[in-house]
Amino acid sequence: MANLLLMPAKSDDFVKKVAAFDALSPAARAHLKSLKGKKVIGVRAVHVGQGDFTAVRSEDGKAVFYFDVGGGCHAGSRSYPWHRTKTPARTLGACFEHSLSPYVFLSHWDHDHWFSAENLTAIAQSHFIAPRQMIAPSHLKTKQRIMPNVRLWPRDEKIVEIQLTTGHGLLIESCSGDEGGDPNHSGLALTLVRYKQRVVRSTGALSVAVHKDAASITHARYRELILLPGDAPYHYVRSLGNQALRDGGRYIGLLAYHHGSQSEWSSATAYAPTANANTHRAGYTYGIKPDNKGCYSSMPGSDAVQGMKDKGWTDRKNTSGAAPLLSALNDQRELDPPRTTPVQEGDIDIEFP
Ligand SMILES: [Zn+2]
Repeated sequence: MANLLLMPAKSDDFVKKVAAFDALSPAARAHLKSLKGKKVIGVRAVHVGQGDFTAVRSEDGKAVFYFDVGGGCHAGSRSYPWHRTKTPARTLGACFEHSLSPYVFLSHWDHDHWFSAENLTAIAQSHFIAPRQMIAPSHLKTKQRIMPNVRLWPRDEKIVEIQLTTGHGLLIESCSGDEGGDPNHSGLALTLVRYKQRVVRSTGALSVAVHKDAASITHARYRELILLPGDAPYHYVRSLGNQALRDGGRYIGLLAYHHGSQSEWSSATAYAPTANANTHRAGYTYGIKPDNKGCYSSMPGSDAVQGMKDKGWTDRKNTSGAAPLLSALNDQRELDPPRTTPVQEGDIDIEFP
C-alpha cells in the first residue's frame, strides 16, 4: 500500500480504512468492470444548490456513475431549490438515481462536492473513487461514514481511458496541483468521449488504455467530448495540455470549473477547451442567492463567463436561476441583461448529439 492519503497525524486511523488504488492493477480493473458495457448519452448536473452533483446517464435515463454528490452546505445550506418553495417538486432522495448501483467519482474533498453522502444513506453506501488530498480535521468525523467504501486514485501524469462500449469511453485523470495545497487544484477530472469510429472488441475484458501523459492522447479518435473538471481551473486539467485536443473544436459540453466563480482563477478560462462550433453547452452549477455572503457570493463571475464566451461557449445554462451575473469589482460591463423575466432554474442536461 504505497500510496497514503495525506492527512493530519491524528487521523492515522482513517488512513488504514482507505485503500489506495492502482489504476493498472487487476483488482482495480475488477473494481471498475461494472462500468463496462454501459451506454452513456451524456451528463445531468443536478440542481442541489451550491455544489456539484452530476450523473452520467444512459439512454434510458439511469445513472451509470456519478461525478460528485455534493450539495448546499455551510454558507450555501439554504440554497437547495426545495428550501425556497413550500411545494418542492423533489427533495434529495429523488436526485440520486441508483438502480444500477452507480459508482461515485469525487472531484475533490471540498464539502460541496460530497455533502449529500452525509444526508442520504444510499449515497454513503456507494463505492467512491476519490483523489488523494489533505483533509481538513474538522471534516474527519463526518467523512468516517463513507471511508470504508473509498478507493484513492493515484497521483501521477497518467490519463486512464476506459472504453465503456464500442462507441463511448471515459478519461480519468488526476489534476496537476500540489496535493498539499488547494484541493480544488489536485482533484480528479473526467472526460466523456464519443469515438469517431466504433471500436469493436469481442473479449469480455475491460478495455483500459493508459496514456503516460496528455501528449500521448490520440485526439483524432474522438468525435465529441464532455469535460467535467470539478473545481480545477482548466490549466490544472492535464488532458487540456494537449493543445490539438483542447483547441480541436470537439468539446460539445463542459461544466464551468469552480461553479463559474469569479476569483483569481478567472484567467484560467484562457485554457478552456474550444467549444464545438455547431453544438455546445456550458453548465454553471451554483445555488447561492446574491444576498448571501462568503466565498460563494460571486458565482457566476463576469470575467469567467466572458472568458468562456471567448472560447466559443456562448450557450450557458445555470442550475440556479436566482442569482444575477455579478460583474467584477470596478467593472461595469453588463454581460447579461437585468433579470426582468424569470429565469428557469433546474438540472442541466448535456448530451452527445
Ligand atoms: Zn465547489
